[in-house]
Amino acid sequence: MVRPNSGKLHVRDQDCVFCRIVRGDIPSEEVYEDDEVLALNDIHPVASVHFMMIPKRHIATFGDVQSDDRDVLGNMMILAGRLAREQ
Ligand SMILES: [Zn+2]
Repeated sequence: MVRPNSGKLHVRDQDCVFCRIVRGDIPSEEVYEDDEVLALNDIHPVASVHFMMIPKRHIATFGDVQSDDRDVLGNMMILAGRLAREQ
């Protein structure tokens, strides 16, 4: 599945594995998707419900989080609980 690059808001890194999943270069089993976030089933689940969430904006590590990532990361925390309850 090819996803359009939405431009500057979603800065992506060519070699980043998470960005490659978001671009569709690496196949994934989607649980949820919106403009900011992709959630997919973990390929090696260790629990009955085990998914991972990726911000579409490239954030390599928690050490790279900037203050303007606040809304995206906050929304991901809320979404994680909601998706877990729904599964
Ligand atoms: Zn990335």
